[in-house]
Amino acid sequence: MSFIINSIPAVQSISLPQLQQQQLQAAVLRLDAVHPVVSGNKWYKLKLHLTAATSGNKKAIVTFGGAFSNHIVATAAACAAAGLQSYGVIRGERGKVPSPTLLQAAALGMQLFFTNRTDYRNQKIPDELLTLIADKEHIIIPEGGYSKEGMLGAATILDGINIQSFSHIMCTVGTGTTLAGLHLAALPHQQVIGISVLKNNYSLEASVQSLLPPEMIRPIQILHEHHGGGYAKHTPQLLHFMNEWYQQTGIPSDFVYTGKLFFAFQNLVAAGYFPKGSHVLLVHSGGLQGNRSLPPGTLIFGAE
Ligand SMILES: *Cc1c(COP(=O)(O)O)cnc(C)c1O
Repeated sequence: MSFIINSIPAVQSISLPQLQQQQLQAAVLRLDAVHPVVSGNKWYKLKLHLTAATSGNKKAIVTFGGAFSNHIVATAAACAAAGLQSYGVIRGERGKVPSPTLLQAAALGMQLFFTNRTDYRNQKIPDELLTLIADKEHIIIPEGGYSKEGMLGAATILDGINIQSFSHIMCTVGTGTTLAGLHLAALPHQQVIGISVLKNNYSLEASVQSLLPPEMIRPIQILHEHHGGGYAKHTPQLLHFMNEWYQQTGIPSDFVYTGKLFFAFQNLVAAGYFPKGSHVLLVHSGGLQGNRSLPPGTLIFGAE
């Protein structure tokens, strides 16, 4: 399935004085630049679901997300491109002013259904939507794309990229699907490190392990101290860092995921975490659309 993304993402080397000082090398895998709307890891997590839908003659995709969810926009865009109807079950009430994310999803043809938090947590499909999909010609994708198919798709993130020279591969972690995929694709000598953007979500390691094939025993390394106050919370330090990182590298980031990844990386470097000679690949998982919820002018780079 190549109707949306068929280019190999760029690997951008970054040079910063603190890396040189510690004899470290680093590069960013620019998944944010693969597609203007379906950017980042979301496309990779969706692609096997979409293939299953189109090859099984399904007509629709049902999925779940919050009002600012990157997964919701990506699903809406990917379904529009694949000729599938998309249905989004959105956590919480329909707001008076819809979020930019939901406006965009609706403009891409997604039909939105709002649900209370308890029903959402149980991934319950609202009755109104059940009636619409009674013909069963649909596929359900769990919240955030957390699934074996999502992991297998995420494993293709590194396809076509010469990863041999890297000692560490780092990504940010929401559901852990992307991290699981990177574990599948990483070489035996590589350490895969996840930066959790959730506060105290210590069940993540088990969530990642349970996606992986049972015979694959790798230490699942997730750092839990870099959430910056919790999911989608931001501090002035983080926003300042994101602008500075952009000035130094030309790489935009988002405040929910990738800003926290790069900030964590910088802090780990400063703390002497990486052995001399390490070569770190930072996976930029996209998500820039999420910055639209910040007041205009907060960041020195645009939302997309
Ligand atoms: C959704 C998302 C993630 C989290 O990916 P998981 O596979 O759920 O861990 C990371 N980065 C960005 C930008 C995202 O939108």
